Amino acid sequence: MKAEVDQNIIVYFRGEYLPLSQARVGILTHALHYGTGVFEGIRGYWNDAEQELFLVRPREHYERWKQNCGLLHIDVPESAEHLCEITAELALRNAFHTDIYIRPLAYKSAERVGVRTDDYDAFALVALPFGAYLPDRGLHAGVSAWRRINDNAIPARGKICGAYVNSVLASDDARRAGFDEALLLNESGHVAEGATCNLFMVRKGQLITPSVTENILEGITRASVMELAWHQLGLSVVERPIDRSELYLSDELFLTGTAVGVAPVVRVDHRPVSGGEVGAVTSEMQRLYVDAVRGYLPAYRKWLLPAFASQQQAEERGGQLLKR
Ligand code: PMP
Repeated sequence: MKAEVDQNIIVYFRGEYLPLSQARVGILTHALHYGTGVFEGIRGYWNDAEQELFLVRPREHYERWKQNCGLLHIDVPESAEHLCEITAELALRNAFHTDIYIRPLAYKSAERVGVRTDDYDAFALVALPFGAYLPDRGLHAGVSAWRRINDNAIPARGKICGAYVNSVLASDDARRAGFDEALLLNESGHVAEGATCNLFMVRKGQLITPSVTENILEGITRASVMELAWHQLGLSVVERPIDRSELYLSDELFLTGTAVGVAPVVRVDHRPVSGGEVGAVTSEMQRLYVDAVRGYLPAYRKWLLPAFASQQQAEERGGQLLKR
């Protein structure tokens, strides 16, 4: 087996801080067979001037995670607050002075055969050094032949492990066909989202995104972009169905997500968008988002948890909150 991640990084697994090499699951684990897990993705951005690692909206991510776990009757007993503390502790123990990605995963952990679930749940938090997820240039996206999963089959808003087969199929086909990312239509033929990101379109002076009832993940970056658009650019985002052909006629397109950030799309299905160049709203949004998550915009510090400072404060407040 080829391990792509340093096996010595410290992860939080079943209530303990362990090297990744010791955090293992058995071959009969329910979630491995039936996809019965719920995961999250959280970013941490390194700010060199402040020597600080800013976790981006960790509380919102953990609240979404705990709620989504309820879809599968998975219980994560820790509060969102405590999960933030554990995450900051992971950053500290690993001494990350770089951009990172945090992968929380809660899952049905019983080791036996059969889809029936029971009360054996477990969770892990893994934090990894992590750079750019998509190429750092205008992207070429392709509309996938795979349809986005429907809410009454598997809820797309749930970040459910098994549901990501849908994203894997679409993304893999797109890459084999030479595209950078897949765009998925839902069963009613409207644009839903990318394989791992939400989509925004500029058309006729409006900034438009599919509404949350179009079988999308209710993205936290999507919400951040909506807030930035309104407060910084004076644009109120219109949430409405988007037709496939509107993608081809759009003035600008961009993708949003924890991993991708704000990523411009300059071609869709071999048709140029915005003359094949990154448009004005997109590049402004990219700049605003990067500045916000690196801590350069005071008004958006509210989104950030300074991992190192928060752990130091916790220790000063009354000894160690978390045993090292
Ligand atoms: N859609 C899908 C299918 C995703 O996997 C993601 C990544 N979590 C997103 C959208 C973006 O969501 P967020 O901004 O919360 O990361």
